[in-house]
Amino acid sequence: MENRGIVIIGAGPAGLAAAIRLDELGVRDILILERENSGGGILRQCIHDGFGLERYGESISGPEYASRLLEEIGKRGIECRTGSSVIDIGRDRVLTVASARGTEIIKAGAIIAAAGCRERSRGAIMIPGERPAGVYTAGTAQAYMNLYNRMPGRKAVILGSGDIGLIMARRLTLEGAEVSAVFELQDHPNGLERNIVQCLDDYSIPLYLNHTVTEIHGKERIEGVTVSEVDSITHKPKAGTEKYYPCDTLILSVGLIPDNTILERAGVIIDPVTGGASVDEHYMTSVPGIFSAGNMLHVHDLADYASAEAEAAAENAALYIEGKLDTGGNIRVAAANGVSHVVPMRVSGNGPFTVSLRACRRERNRKVEIRQGEKVLGWHFFPLVIPSQMITVHSDAASGSEDIEVSII
Ligand SMILES: Cc1cc2nc3c(=O)[nH]c(=O)nc-3n(C[C@H](O)[C@H](O)[C@H](O)COP(=O)(O)OP(=O)(O)OC[C@H]3O[C@@H](n4cnc5c(N)ncnc54)[C@H](O)[C@@H]3O)c2cc1C
Repeated sequence: MENRGIVIIGAGPAGLAAAIRLDELGVRDILILERENSGGGILRQCIHDGFGLERYGESISGPEYASRLLEEIGKRGIECRTGSSVIDIGRDRVLTVASARGTEIIKAGAIIAAAGCRERSRGAIMIPGERPAGVYTAGTAQAYMNLYNRMPGRKAVILGSGDIGLIMARRLTLEGAEVSAVFELQDHPNGLERNIVQCLDDYSIPLYLNHTVTEIHGKERIEGVTVSEVDSITHKPKAGTEKYYPCDTLILSVGLIPDNTILERAGVIIDPVTGGASVDEHYMTSVPGIFSAGNMLHVHDLADYASAEAEAAAENAALYIEGKLDTGGNIRVAAANGVSHVVPMRVSGNGPFTVSLRACRRERNRKVEIRQGEKVLGWHFFPLVIPSQMITVHSDAASGSEDIEVSII
């Protein structure tokens, strides 16, 4: 068995930023384990720009963002073992890693889990109809085009207005495919405002809210889809609104979910709303010494935020291995009015903390308030809150044991 200081799972923007921060703090025994044959995570296939505005103060592409981080890792001599998939985490932070070398067992002083998330597939949303070829998740279609230089199809319909779907609408159009429309079940788009403008409006691709695909047609290859309008509250299709759209490609952009199977097996408590680990303000999970950050913890809209969160987790992991992390109490942080989820889910009461959250609906001129009983611990005014954008608000330290509520008012 190999003994290591801090092991980071995943070499995406979160894992790489965590490693750089640890090195800056003087932690010398750092090991990054990455399943793919190269680091960079999802950024490798995001060839559009719009990354790095916060971290680098300029808009760069995903691969440029990844290569800046990877260069830094190389310069600092941090070990990044690619082609190495963590398949299990047992008691006392013992990792089982599968690679071409076989199975390796590594004991870590602390773990930072930054293994990203996965896309919801057709199975998860249960669209009836045939099972033909030509139905892709947006990320898979993106990988075909941007990593393997393959066109998924020529006439596409996109279901879901998440950012990846919007970006794929533009990408397919630029490569000569026809994108008939984007259909969204909700009464609001799920992607960032800038992506609606730059990926749909600029290419005259219509977006239909309160609509969904109700049937897939075609035996070998998809030939078309039936789309129906839905009730804005129940989301049930309205009879008589069905319309047929011929297509050879259906792109699904219906959400991302953190993939936490390995953490669950390690005994980490998973939050039922985010699908990620339940963490305290130090990004430490319910298992001491296991930290989580980035899309594995909760889905981020920007890579910069995933990187920044992982840096904070790294600072705490560095304190943990030195026995200096003050974990203290266990005060619950709950999502209240207008808030769909919050991170962290509990705090120690030992100091100020930062809350990340998502709004349930689009609202103008709202205040995000962090309250413990009668005491307001923090608040921030926002001219606009939208579910697709992550919000962060700073809070003073809590005290006692009463729950903390985060609401949009
Ligand atoms: C299509 C698309 C467009 C986007 N556009 C933008 C944009 O314009 N601007 C922006 O700022 N952000 C954008 N984002 C968001 C940004 O890419 C993500 O927030 C960010 O990549 C999350 O970083 P991460 O490190 O948490 O996860 P990831 O980038 O997913 O990295 C996780 C890494 O963990 C590895 N891994 C997984 N499981 C294991 C395992 N068991 N063992 C070892 N390694 C493992 C994976 O192979 C991967 O390399 C976009 C995302 C997508 C998908």
